[in-house]
Amino acid sequence: MSSGGESIEKFRSLSPAEFFYRNREIAGFSNPSRALYQTVRELVENSLDACDNHGILPTVRITVFPENTKENHYRVTVSDNGIGIPPRYVPQAFGKVLFGSKYKLRQTRGTFGLGAKMAILYGQITTGKPVEVRTSPKGSQYSYFFKIMIDIEKNEPIVMERRIMKRKSKRHGTTVSVVVEGDWSRARSRILEYIKRTAMGVPYATITIITPEKEAYKYSRVIRKMPPPPREVKPHPRGVDIEMLKAIIASTKSSTLKDMLKNAFQSIGKKSAEILLEEAGIDPNKDPRKLTLDEITALVSSMRKYNKYRPPRTDALSPLGKDIIEAGLKGVLKPEFAYAVTRKPSSYSGHPFIVEVGVAYGGEVPLSPDKGPILYRFANKIPLLYDEGSDVCWKVVSDANFNWRQYNVKLPDRIAVLVHICSTKIPYKGVGKESIADVPEIEREVRNAVKEAARHLRLYLSKKIRAEEEKRKIMTLVKYVPEVARSLSILSKPPASDGNPVDYESIKSVLMKIIERRARKIDGLNIDLRELIIDVG
Ligand code: ADP
Ligand code: MG
Repeated sequence: MSSGGESIEKFRSLSPAEFFYRNREIAGFSNPSRALYQTVRELVENSLDACDNHGILPTVRITVFPENTKENHYRVTVSDNGIGIPPRYVPQAFGKVLFGSKYKLRQTRGTFGLGAKMAILYGQITTGKPVEVRTSPKGSQYSYFFKIMIDIEKNEPIVMERRIMKRKSKRHGTTVSVVVEGDWSRARSRILEYIKRTAMGVPYATITIITPEKEAYKYSRVIRKMPPPPREVKPHPRGVDIEMLKAIIASTKSSTLKDMLKNAFQSIGKKSAEILLEEAGIDPNKDPRKLTLDEITALVSSMRKYNKYRPPRTDALSPLGKDIIEAGLKGVLKPEFAYAVTRKPSSYSGHPFIVEVGVAYGGEVPLSPDKGPILYRFANKIPLLYDEGSDVCWKVVSDANFNWRQYNVKLPDRIAVLVHICSTKIPYKGVGKESIADVPEIEREVRNAVKEAARHLRLYLSKKIRAEEEKRKIMTLVKYVPEVARSLSILSKPPASDGNPVDYESIKSVLMKIIERRARKIDGLNIDLRELIIDVG
């Protein structure tokens, strides 16, 4: 068939669904245990996004039930009280890879429009079952039910069933249910750990999971305060690239380049627009649609080089804040001491980010290894469990040069460090979202935040050490009181005819008052000192 020595290679393109179906391990679906964990995670994260990004205190319920025990098929169902999904978007939201509502510049857990579909695809190929979605959008009078499968070759939803129901109550939210092949016995501890850590990061949520063994684990909200919902912002010019600028040109309504720059980007005013264009050698009044590729390239380079911009705006971010982090640490770890700091916003390559760190010490905090404290990593309010060793936070916390002794901590001890990084773009090392790359700006902020929190721990611990020394001193003093009181009373008056010292009781009482006055100043010494006294005859 081939002519002129051409090979008989066949050429075709791959749909996004097919691409991710073939490469599912890069999204975390590498084996039945990991896939079950990832399924729970993607559905829970969608539920939390649908609540806290819209100012709703989340209530999320997860069930993992055996569907077919012979085949290791599990039904994972996650319900929430979020804003729901408009019915016209449901088929694509759950049936078209790379479709979603989160392609905006603001902090969300989901980013690629991928997570739920990966779980659905995986379920479809391992069990042949469709996803079931029931949603009651906020403000609507109806509930909608869908059964959807994915046409992998076309990357389009196949709606198998669709029902509309009149709503009886005003409750809004969404329930998503998928059947996947899984390995519960191997995934169990990871999934439960994931839920526990989620509860730690979002202590304003109530989260319940019911396991195949019908065990229920419930984390009730311990605080009603919520982080501010993130707001959508315009891109920062430092992060621009050629494709982004082309897309902006294609959709701009501005008639001059300087207006377009001013309208499409944050941190660009009339003057800086003119400087940027001058730098690129382009007329500021030129029609943006008339730019050549060379001019676009020159403009991108001058925009990335310019260094007098205001830093990126941070209202697209939704940091947890000191109170919520401390509540989360106390609620889950029950430490004797917890302290959290939220650093000032910072940025890398035009992306704003904020680092927050909490430390928890003592109490029921699990014993840490001697390499470093137990680390709880969070990115955009998502706990990260896998690949700890390659994460920038681990690099800082376990750093041999990070001298925990200097903070009065002798490892191993009961100490945990929570690091939360929030950004409009988390530099994950993969689409499975498990570890964060060591961007120097982020590493520096993490180190500073850990140091700042650790200094407060040191203060607490040195007070505690001082108090303990005082306490020991006082206990020793108390032991000598009867002896001293007796000697003093004999010194001041001769003993009575029965041989007993005369003023013994009153001298003892004076001595005790002096000691007690001192003891009242020490934290944690609330025992009755007088009970410790053994009178001498
Ligand atoms: P991503 O979360 O990255 O956007 P997903 O495939 O996980 O991608 O979800 C696709 C879209 O479906 C989301 O962007 C969101 O608009 C919608 N969605 C999914 N789950 C829910 C839910 N529980 N409540 C409301 N909307 C949801
Ligand atoms: Mg998602």
